[in-house]
Amino acid sequence: MPKDAQHARETLLDVRNLSVDFRTPRGRVKALRDITFPIRRNRIVGIVGESGSGKSTVLWALLGLLAKNAEVMGGEVRFGDRDLLHASETQLRATRGEEISVVFQDPMTSQIPVLTYGRQMLDILYRRPDVSASEKRRMAVEMLGKVGIPDPDKRIDQYPHHFSGGMRQRAGIAMALLTGPKLLLADEPTTALDVTMEAQIIHLLQDLQKELDATVVVVSHNLGLIAELCDDVVVMYAGEVIEAGDVREIFHNAQHPYTRALLECDPARIDDVSRKLPVIPGDIPDLTRALSGCIYAPRCQRAMPVCRTETPPDVRRGEMSQARCHLLEGPHHDPVWMSASRLPPAKPSG
Ligand code: SF4
Repeated sequence: MPKDAQHARETLLDVRNLSVDFRTPRGRVKALRDITFPIRRNRIVGIVGESGSGKSTVLWALLGLLAKNAEVMGGEVRFGDRDLLHASETQLRATRGEEISVVFQDPMTSQIPVLTYGRQMLDILYRRPDVSASEKRRMAVEMLGKVGIPDPDKRIDQYPHHFSGGMRQRAGIAMALLTGPKLLLADEPTTALDVTMEAQIIHLLQDLQKELDATVVVVSHNLGLIAELCDDVVVMYAGEVIEAGDVREIFHNAQHPYTRALLECDPARIDDVSRKLPVIPGDIPDLTRALSGCIYAPRCQRAMPVCRTETPPDVRRGEMSQARCHLLEGPHHDPVWMSASRLPPAKPSG
């Protein structure tokens, strides 16, 4: 099969050369700069990065819900034969909910406190005029049961404040999956939960993804969550994708110095829990300023003079993996760096 046809068959959604600016009183913030990555069908894809990396802007772009002060400077988000960045509001409304849906970090902000789950779920199915109200209720009860809500036929008539935090998140997932979307987006889905609930939600998302043959994108700052939950990972830094690919490949032999630094700071890899967690020294650069060379150079322990002046190459490993660094290709290529993963293994999660 030709490569392009295979890529199209495997890819549910394709972000291509996407650049987004925000107009702010401080000037234009270059929030995303020329980012490209595919989301493969039937995979769980993690988008990870520090605060300010642009990962949330990507999520809003995938939903066609960028803020009013955002300006798409170039690129596209292909979903089937549509470009979500240039679709009409009517097309986007039909896509959101039916084909792409979202689970938010805090269910209290996305669920309506004065409506029962039954009523809210009925409203989600408003685009199905030929389905009777009793059938819609049956579908909702079934989905609540699928996400592990006990006695769903009774609890469907309760309000969000009757549910615990973990149960509310389960209900949020049930609502997001009710229409059978092709793509489920989850924004920091476990950040508001304790460790036990987090583990339960991770396993639930994994089980549902398999059972429903869905594709899931998880946006998170939590590397442990990404490692445990995802098949693919996209690592973002200061509005750029600096590394992407199969999660096991990247977690075992990250190629980009930022990814390695992030992994070295991951609590799951640190044995002495009494010592202070390491952090990567320095800050994300000011994105209102013109930037040249490698965006990570001011914080990179391996930075060379060329890194401050020349944009590093995007180096591909296979069809889906990529990393952006001078150490990986060209005159500054360092084969020792590429082969040496000096990371301690992650501890098995409990
Ligand atoms: Fe570090 Fe240079 Fe690679 Fe950037 S291009 S990550 S500064 S070694």
